[in-house]
Amino acid sequence: MINIILFGKPGAGKGTQAEFLKKHYGFFHISTGDVFRYNIQNNTELGLLAKSYMDQGDLVPDEVTINMLKAEVEKQPNAQGFIFDGFPRTTAQSKALDIFLEEKNMAISATIALEANDEILIQRLLKRGQDSGRVDLLKRGQDSGRVDDQDEEKIRNRFDEYNSKTAPLIAYYQAQGKFYSVDGIGEIAEITQRIQNVIDSL
Ligand code: ADP
Repeated sequence: MINIILFGKPGAGKGTQAEFLKKHYGFFHISTGDVFRYNIQNNTELGLLAKSYMDQGDLVPDEVTINMLKAEVEKQPNAQGFIFDGFPRTTAQSKALDIFLEEKNMAISATIALEANDEILIQRLLKRGQDSGRVDLLKRGQDSGRVDDQDEEKIRNRFDEYNSKTAPLIAYYQAQGKFYSVDGIGEIAEITQRIQNVIDSL
């Protein structure tokens, strides 16, 4: 069983690449951002709580996010492998994930980071925030024209959250010998191939 973390800053292309990888390898894809947005659309208690953080570009508190992630994994007892997209984003989430997977005799096989520079990413996100009605986003169940993609200040706050809370995970997975870096600039298919090269070498 192979379990992959797709890692990278906001806008790095994790969701886009996860779509290809889940089809190619039969992995089950869990995007914590998508699960939060689904809950917001359905006006659940979780959605209401998450929205107050997400709209500001802040991370949702660990306890809430970790419990939600565990519940999503538990719903898929027959999965052949998972792609975790947007999780973990803090050291506490990484540690909780390792313990949780170990209890289930599972483990992370690789953390694959999509690399791109901040200015390119900010432009991508602002464009995504303007693209209401894009079919590919709608198909993914995502709210097109995301509030958190429309305001440069909120986008910059997401990068600050990444730099202070998420970047330390690079060292965490490097210490386990599980960290792989992939160039996230180029054609979508080229980037998919780079990720596949990593997965096929595991
Ligand atoms: P992006 O990576 O483009 O910012 P996501 O859809 O992955 O988009 O996440 C959107 C928002 O959802 C984040 O800014 C954060 O508020 C919340 N979120 C998603 N995943 C997590 C997580 N693992 N921990 C805390 N908050 C999260």
